[in-house]
Amino acid sequence: MSNVIPGGWVQFLDKMGDDLDVVNSARISFSKKHEVIKKGDAELIDFLLRNRHGTPFEMVEFMFQVRCPLTVAREWFRHRIASYNEVSGRYVKQQNDNYIPEISAVRIQTGKPGNYHYEPMEDLDKANRLIDKMVSAYEFSYETYEELLTEGMAKELARNVLCQGMFTEFRFKVNARALMNFLSLRNAPNAMFEIQQYAKKMEEYFKAVLPLTHAAFIKHGRVAP
Ligand SMILES: Cc1cc2nc3c(=O)[nH]c(=O)nc-3n(C[C@H](O)[C@H](O)[C@H](O)COP(=O)(O)OP(=O)(O)OC[C@H]3O[C@@H](n4cnc5c(N)ncnc54)[C@H](O)[C@@H]3O)c2cc1C
Repeated sequence: MSNVIPGGWVQFLDKMGDDLDVVNSARISFSKKHEVIKKGDAELIDFLLRNRHGTPFEMVEFMFQVRCPLTVAREWFRHRIASYNEVSGRYVKQQNDNYIPEISAVRIQTGKPGNYHYEPMEDLDKANRLIDKMVSAYEFSYETYEELLTEGMAKELARNVLCQGMFTEFRFKVNARALMNFLSLRNAPNAMFEIQQYAKKMEEYFKAVLPLTHAAFIKHGRVAP
């Protein structure tokens, strides 16, 4: 399990396949198979990636467990080419557990739609004060949630008062092609800071499992095939 933001982590649970499965999936076109990675396989992977022959990369799968704020999960779940299971707020009482950013992650936003820039808030006293305000809002909303539950309201309805900074937990299974798309978009400077931290860590796992594919991904501009 790797901590990526305060209270948030990503855990690499399992994988199926490696670079050898990518080349063997491509070579089945010619009814050929290698037992181990051989000379020329890195070039084949490079060729597949460069020419956007994407399906051999779908033969490798990754499974992660993730704990992140709802704001991050909402962006994450837009990635449709994946499988998800999430803890249910209808069945489980939510915890009073919300994302409180590090002071260095408190940022300001400048620019305009399509071209926003984010810079650290220089006034650290102010940044601390704003973090305190976030915490007060979390506390107020959680107290209201508990009050509604105590009065008998169903969890599925009462949860509407909870904050978007609340942590959720889910499993994410994704093939290497769709994961490259995720990394390309989310381990990128224009992605939200918090989701970037998850994507950075996941890219380390991706590189460890698929070193040749990762090298080609980097070489060809971090574009999914
Ligand atoms: C910096 C940034 C800002 C964003 N801002 C916004 C925003 O303001 N509003 C907003 O709504 N979203 C926003 N998004 C989300 C974005 O539009 C995508 O929904 C998200 O990045 C998932 O990408 P995807 O569709 O490529 O991934 P996946 O859904 O995993 O799809 C992977 C690939 O499969 C193919 N595919 C999947 N479904 C279809 C389909 N139905 N038809 C054809 N091809 C398909 C495509 O090739 C796609 O690239 C933003 C994303 C980023 C990274």
